[in-house]
Amino acid sequence: MGSIDLKVVFKKYGIKNTVQRQAVYNYLTDASAPITAEQIYMELTQSESDAMNLSTVYRILDLFTKKGLVLKSNLQADGKSTYEMNHMEHRHHLICVKCNSIVPIKGCPLEDYEKRLGESTNYQILEHHLEILGICPKCRK
Ligand SMILES: [Zn+2]
Ligand SMILES: [Zn+2]
Repeated sequence: MGSIDLKVVFKKYGIKNTVQRQAVYNYLTDASAPITAEQIYMELTQSESDAMNLSTVYRILDLFTKKGLVLKSNLQADGKSTYEMNHMEHRHHLICVKCNSIVPIKGCPLEDYEKRLGESTNYQILEHHLEILGICPKCRK
């Protein structure tokens, strides 16, 4: 399922189509929050019959990032990079400092602020980053 579409997607981004790349892509598409290379690796080695090593996962993620298919960021409290599909939408995240889980926040609270700041400083505002750290309900128990 979806393999024909994936070939088209990969072609559009100039990425050679391989089974391993498809597996990483599919896993990222299904993920509801940014994930680390280790998480992808763990998941894929459990479900795929083809063994993929961690450096292969990193290489694929690097390629996807370079081609703009995937966004890489350092959201995790322990400094590990996370990856998510590049949906071209502006997003913020809630991060648990205990278990490192990441939850996307809907909407942006800074839109008006950005506009006013641009007007008052005469800056052309390009972007901003905002991550909120906390302790998730599970870890509070
Ligand atoms: Zn937590
Ligand atoms: Zn924002």
